[in-house]
Amino acid sequence: MATSDLINLSGLLDDAKCFALVRQHRWPEGARCPVCDSGAVIRDGHGDTQLYRQRYRCKACAGRFDDLTGTVLAGHHQPLRVWVLCPYFMGLNLSNRQIAGELGLDGSDVQTMTEQLRRGLVAKAPEVTLKGQVEIDEVYVVAGHKGQPAAVAKRGDLDGVASWQARRAAARWRKTSHPSWG
Ligand SMILES: [Zn+2]
Repeated sequence: MATSDLINLSGLLDDAKCFALVRQHRWPEGARCPVCDSGAVIRDGHGDTQLYRQRYRCKACAGRFDDLTGTVLAGHHQPLRVWVLCPYFMGLNLSNRQIAGELGLDGSDVQTMTEQLRRGLVAKAPEVTLKGQVEIDEVYVVAGHKGQPAAVAKRGDLDGVASWQARRAAARWRKTSHPSWG
């Protein structure tokens, strides 16, 4: 089916439903403060330009936030209905170029949106940046747990300790029994 045959879906969605969808997805149990995670929040009016963007005030930390605060949807110029449809098209396995065609956007804009949406709706804390000398602890990778991850995890720990003790004993043996080896 040619792109032009498809209905312009974004034109059929209204902002009120899009904001309701985001609220439902983000806070199925009711709004929570993105700063202190308190559920003691009160509604505090709506956005100036986006009339359905609910604002809140946190009674615990006095912080103010709205439906989109702390999400990848905040601070973007695309209307929310475009962001709501994007994951739908991604689910249909459309390419970024096809999605751009459906939404009437630049391919590069859609690329940015799909990358952000794949990381999740709510923005994650920035990754830790490592500087200077970095030490990495010993890591055990256990493969093939065959549906018994708990048992393997336990055994993996014991194996790890056992092999470490064996290596230490072997090292001591080399040191004490054969001093001439150096
Ligand atoms: Zn708070």
